[in-house]
Amino acid sequence: MKNNRRFISRLDLIILFAAIALSVMLGLVFSGVFSEKETVSAVIYHGGSVYRRINLTGHKDDRIKIEGHEVLLEIKNHRIAFADTLCPDRICERTGFIGTPGQTAVCAPNRVAVIVISDKHNPDKDGEVDVIAT
Ligand SMILES: [Zn+2]
Repeated sequence: MKNNRRFISRLDLIILFAAIALSVMLGLVFSGVFSEKETVSAVIYHGGSVYRRINLTGHKDDRIKIEGHEVLLEIKNHRIAFADTLCPDRICERTGFIGTPGQTAVCAPNRVAVIVISDKHNPDKDGEVDVIAT
């Protein structure tokens, strides 16, 4: 009888832990759902056309060289910036890291522009691309 009672209490403990584990897992799942996970991308334009599109969400730290130009872009902590650019004003470098959809960084002398977009907000449809297409 004693053993049986101990077994039950142990089972209760297991059920309790299982319930806690389940609620934690559910909490993680729901927090993931309600945080509206979006994919943020950086679109690099060169001379008015898309040079490269980089998925910033989950992208590891990286450096991207624009071929034919002394333009180096750096990706850090899911954000992008002009890192080392040969241009007279260096306004592009002063912009710093951008990673919020809608943010832009432009290097006018090299005709390179970076626009941050998300899968929920597509500037291609809003016509924002026309701004830097000139
Ligand atoms: Zn520049």
